[in-house]
Amino acid sequence: MTKESSKAPPLYPKTHLLAASGIAALLSLALLVFPSSDVEAKRTTLSLELESPAEQLTQDQDAAEAVQATNEQQASPFAQIENTSEETAETAQIEPAPASAPAPVIEEKKAPSHREVIVAKGDTLSTLFEKVGLPATAVHEVLASGKQAKLFSQLKRGQKLEFELNPQGQLINLHSNVSDLETISLTRNDKGYAFNRITAKPTVRSAYVHGVINSSLSQSAARAGLSHKMTMDMASVFGYDVDFAQDIRPGDQFDVIYEQKVVNGKAVGTGPILSARFVNRGKTYTAVRYTNKQGNTSYYTADGNSMRKAFIRTPVDFARISSKFSMGRKHPILNKIRAHKGVDYAAPRGTPIKAAGDGKVLLAGRRGGYGNTVIIQHGNTYRTLYGHMQGFAKGVKTGGSVKQGQVIGYIGTTGLSTGPHLHYEFQVNGVHVDPLGQKVAMADPISKAERARFLAQSQPLMARMDQEKATMLASKR
Ligand SMILES: [Zn+2]
Repeated sequence: MTKESSKAPPLYPKTHLLAASGIAALLSLALLVFPSSDVEAKRTTLSLELESPAEQLTQDQDAAEAVQATNEQQASPFAQIENTSEETAETAQIEPAPASAPAPVIEEKKAPSHREVIVAKGDTLSTLFEKVGLPATAVHEVLASGKQAKLFSQLKRGQKLEFELNPQGQLINLHSNVSDLETISLTRNDKGYAFNRITAKPTVRSAYVHGVINSSLSQSAARAGLSHKMTMDMASVFGYDVDFAQDIRPGDQFDVIYEQKVVNGKAVGTGPILSARFVNRGKTYTAVRYTNKQGNTSYYTADGNSMRKAFIRTPVDFARISSKFSMGRKHPILNKIRAHKGVDYAAPRGTPIKAAGDGKVLLAGRRGGYGNTVIIQHGNTYRTLYGHMQGFAKGVKTGGSVKQGQVIGYIGTTGLSTGPHLHYEFQVNGVHVDPLGQKVAMADPISKAERARFLAQSQPLMARMDQEKATMLASKR
């Protein structure tokens, strides 16, 4: 990794600086992946998607839980062995366990023998059974035992099948991890085989990541260990303040604390961003996820202001303003002087139109000269109107509700209209105002009643980002 970035030719001091910050980010990543033992101790919950020493630290904990869980669900005396042998198995591996061999420490009673095989190219259930010494009839018995047993014949390369055989060499249990979260098993009983599926519940922990933007956000984020989805989430959290298409500069930085789902010490997925900080051209933006007492979740700045504005500025992307708001203009069709109480956006027929804010749909239908029209009521004060639509988006209907940015319909030229465009009106307490002149209204900040509760969550998250970053930078020296 470091090799790659040192290839960047240090032609100009600037480039060199950028390369250096890139290396810094790589170093910090490397630090995460290979923490020194004393750092490790401090970072039990800190890790990326990694197969590394850092993981083992948390793994002990999780593995302990997992073993417990497995023991409860399937009374296999091999639960522990299975768990630890998992990582060492590389190819087909058959554990010889002759009845006469000295019994391993864990086994007191008559032990069934344990065999495991890894599915290779060309393997079928029959070839795998053959590898562990089971007769062809055993395959038929298994597959005939029930519908779900057939899941065992949907084999994936690299999948491990584990067999328990009794001293007579008969199959008494067969199980396999289908994914990080799912294990299927068949256990012999008097009637045949009983199928069981165990779904692991991932433990959730928080993970930290820091990145410096070198060239593009997506590259830097990927290098720092953020998934594409997390990067999109971050862009959307800061999307009201930072234009990620145009404003991003090399040297911009981000810190993110997010939820990470873990099974047996392995990261298997991510949850939401809990807090984040983005430095764009020297200006710092903060975000904290907070669920209020009513159960609504939103992002706020660290001091409790809403991240999102109540309205997006333009309901149509990539449109041209063809007519502005005016108190008097000659109407193109009526040929009379008339106020134009909205803004016209010209765009090709079919271009999506987005709801400017969350709200209730007062109308999704025809309205005289407006043609196909949507009217949305936002809270008590605001109302927006969208006219001349070609049609409505699926699910948008009178009496329903819409989310900010949701597509509500498509550009058309219905009603009194000379060509495809959106006629957009904005009302404040029933009075038409110029949407372009309208000072963007903010969504509500944290209410006074919840301020203390919010800060109790926000402050530790901010402090942790400071601390993690400082530790990271300090250990780089
Ligand atoms: Zn108009």
